[in-house]
Amino acid sequence: MVDDFDNVEMTYVSFLSRGYISKNKNLFEKIELTPFTKFVLQSSIYGTPIFKFGDCGKRILVLSGIHGNELAPQLANLTLLNELSEMDLNNTIYVIPFASPKSTMNNERTFNSLDLNRSAHITNSLSNMIIQAIDELKIDFVGDFHSTAYNSNPGFESVFSSKNPSPESYLIAQYISEEVGSEVISFDVAGSSYKGAIEDVCNLRGIPAVTCEVVSPFASVGKGSFEKSLEQMKCFLTYFGF
Ligand SMILES: [Zn+2]
Repeated sequence: MVDDFDNVEMTYVSFLSRGYISKNKNLFEKIELTPFTKFVLQSSIYGTPIFKFGDCGKRILVLSGIHGNELAPQLANLTLLNELSEMDLNNTIYVIPFASPKSTMNNERTFNSLDLNRSAHITNSLSNMIIQAIDELKIDFVGDFHSTAYNSNPGFESVFSSKNPSPESYLIAQYISEEVGSEVISFDVAGSSYKGAIEDVCNLRGIPAVTCEVVSPFASVGKGSFEKSLEQMKCFLTYFGF
């Protein structure tokens, strides 16, 4: 339990991933330094923190920073954290704003040369430790938030999902698409095109998950991308009644 913020609990997923978010100037200059945000940034100096709000209903994870150079969702998640800290919730919401503070500090995609969204199936990789936390906390649903550059894959605003073995993944993606306008990208079977995405590993374990993408240049916050990412996050939570 955090002394200063009595409706929030915080623990660590890993201590190997620590980093100074403030050293990422492209991100830090956009951050509004509220007392709670300062606490989040200070927590990240020691590792990957996970925050918990509420204590009822479904257990839902909002995740960002799996790719450290995708700044819009991490900035959006900080804003979401601040809003959650002042809300009465119908569900239990877990938030990991910086999956790898070290990668975010260095404004780089990988963590120790490992793509965290291709290694969640590898035992004790950093993203696998996030999967382990998802298991231990008995999290029911996962939203993983990313950004994509125009010339990269997928290169457009979208929601990745799959129909098997966790069909609700596709239903969540459809809902977000209808509400926010992001395009649904759906696979018949999770993990069939490549291995080790957080979303796929969750869906394969029976935990419905989606990956949301907004368009932004890598390593900076593109115009409108922060707002869009925040919209996707809130829509994801609205699916469950927030
Ligand atoms: Zn990404």
